[in-house]
Amino acid sequence: MTQIQDNVNPSEVKKFSTMASQWWDPEGDFKTLHQINPLRLNLVNKTVSLSGKDVLDVGCGGGILSESMALKGANVTGIDLGKALLEVADLHGLDKGVSVNYQHISVENLADKKPGQFDCVTCMELLEHVPDPVSVINACSALVKPDGYVFLSTLNRNPKSYLLSIIGAEYILGMLPKGTHDYSSFIKPSELALWARQAGLVLQESRGIEYNPFTQSFSMTNDISVNYISIFKKTNL
Ligand code: SAH
Repeated sequence: MTQIQDNVNPSEVKKFSTMASQWWDPEGDFKTLHQINPLRLNLVNKTVSLSGKDVLDVGCGGGILSESMALKGANVTGIDLGKALLEVADLHGLDKGVSVNYQHISVENLADKKPGQFDCVTCMELLEHVPDPVSVINACSALVKPDGYVFLSTLNRNPKSYLLSIIGAEYILGMLPKGTHDYSSFIKPSELALWARQAGLVLQESRGIEYNPFTQSFSMTNDISVNYISIFKKTNL
């Protein structure tokens, strides 16, 4: 049996795939991803200087981050298990004249085929949607070159995060479709750092992404209590 069947929750992929046509609507279901993208793109570019780099975007969906990294001059491969999402991503890239290599393959299977091939691996807002996040982290580590960078973003697990990211974002403000997230799958930064360390990735820095309901905008912060991105460097074993 392939690892594709092992580490995927088909209802999670279906949930995102049924919203595929909305992916690039800046006011649609994925409005939040559009709003946070410049912040995370800037963090990645500041850390790795994207131009000319080989980058893998794991769980790329319709390609918001993948395309923006390609526009900075990176050679981007985007992988996801949602076929409809990859079609949307491909069509959008064609329309905009941006080239990204989109592939329908699990990160574990790609790690078997192309170990140590990428300068940088991004895996944003995916870990909280897979049955076995440790397996994804191990695969990300296997795919990055020694001294390369891995960016992992997810939602922290605590009462504040539950209130803001589920009750607030899904039920009060309607920023995310209801049912987008399951609290029990959220990951504490300490858990993420431990799993990454066990995979040979050393934590460099963690940054939070904070929403201001008054200005209706996001900003980077040192507060990692809700949504956060951790930057890891592959150790040179
Ligand atoms: N990383 C993108 C999209 C996040 S939405 C961004 O931040 O802009 C979550 C994505 O994870 C969806 O595209 C969904 O299809 C994908 N996904 C869910 N389970 C997956 C799995 N096991 N392997 C790869 N992608 C998966």
